[in-house]
Amino acid sequence: MKKRVCVLPGDGIGPEIVAEAVKVLDALALPLEYEYALLGGAAIDATGEPYPEATREAARRADAVLLGAVGGPKWDELPRAQRPERGLLGIRKDLGLFANLRPAVLFPELASASTLKPEVVSGLDIVIVRELTGDIYFGEPRGIEVRDGERVGFNTMIYRESEIRRIGRVAFETARRRGKKLCSVDKMNVLETTQLWRDVMNELAPEYPDVTLTHMLVDNAAMQLVRAPKQFDVIVTGNMFGDILSDEAAMLTGSIGMLPSASLDEQGKGLYEPCHGSAPDIAGQGVANPLATILSAAMMLRHSFGWEDAAARIERAVRTVLAQGLRTRDIFEPGTRLVGTAEMGDAVVAAL
Ligand code: NAD
Repeated sequence: MKKRVCVLPGDGIGPEIVAEAVKVLDALALPLEYEYALLGGAAIDATGEPYPEATREAARRADAVLLGAVGGPKWDELPRAQRPERGLLGIRKDLGLFANLRPAVLFPELASASTLKPEVVSGLDIVIVRELTGDIYFGEPRGIEVRDGERVGFNTMIYRESEIRRIGRVAFETARRRGKKLCSVDKMNVLETTQLWRDVMNELAPEYPDVTLTHMLVDNAAMQLVRAPKQFDVIVTGNMFGDILSDEAAMLTGSIGMLPSASLDEQGKGLYEPCHGSAPDIAGQGVANPLATILSAAMMLRHSFGWEDAAARIERAVRTVLAQGLRTRDIFEPGTRLVGTAEMGDAVVAAL
């Protein structure tokens, strides 16, 4: 049975980097079929909407979605509801993507790209599992109103135990496939919501006896991520803490062009995209780094299709080209060889 991938190249460098990821997938001769659709600015230009009905149907039909990036100055003046980024929020909501997986891997060859000392980050390999559809970002009531003659802003931090349990399961499963260590991050000393978070994580733990569960308060986790990030394997946390910690972890690697991500629904269907944006400043020049998108495609093979061997082959091929000294402009250093987007894709294919 062929797996159907909905491919959304998007805007800016999106089409260039997605083409390289598809090139790498094709080289593996896997039973895949692609359906291309429009999202973001490209969709606005063609249909007037950032997430048109045809794209919605293609995404729903697919077993997984591979996305480049959306947005650009051309569409910045549009009203908020019609901007390209609305397309992104629309598809995430429509597909019920509640689990965001962001690996932060620092290939030893790129250790000097980090602002931290090489010995602190070299060989870093962690995953942050962030809950994506709950927490204070969605909780009601919320608003700004006048009380006793002054304005008051308020939000509601709320988690149902079922929401915590399903993200907990994704995190335990992720840890099980890796180093078998899971650190759950909360603020249980102050926030009742996160006391419940900790309780539910502890209740799940006996189902995963091969995984070691620990807990850390979020303020300490923020410090430990820059002090000794290699102590972590998988981190699981709520939407707001995850928003902040995943960006912190991403920056440990120093190179945004290298970072993939996955957002999963309850059936394991996912949307896979690089962490970076559409980089309008370099679009159309053939210089963008396609590795984050290629690594996102590897995550798709692993998480949505269970093709671990093929995923690992892509990741090994990426390491090989870095060891060969090939670099796109964003990760270039003296003594390495500067290559363009297509040449980097070709090199990964050759390394497969
Ligand atoms: P950006 O990530 O697009 O670019 C930031 C910087 O990193 C730029 O200098 C860019 O050239 C560089 N860069 C990013 N990806 C690169 C790659 N693969 N190779 C080499 N260099 C790379 O962020 P931005 O400039 O803040 O945003 C640009 C547009 O992208 C905006 O319209 C924004 O809304 C959108 N955006 C989209 C997403 C998404 O689609 N998920 C995420 C973030 C930003």
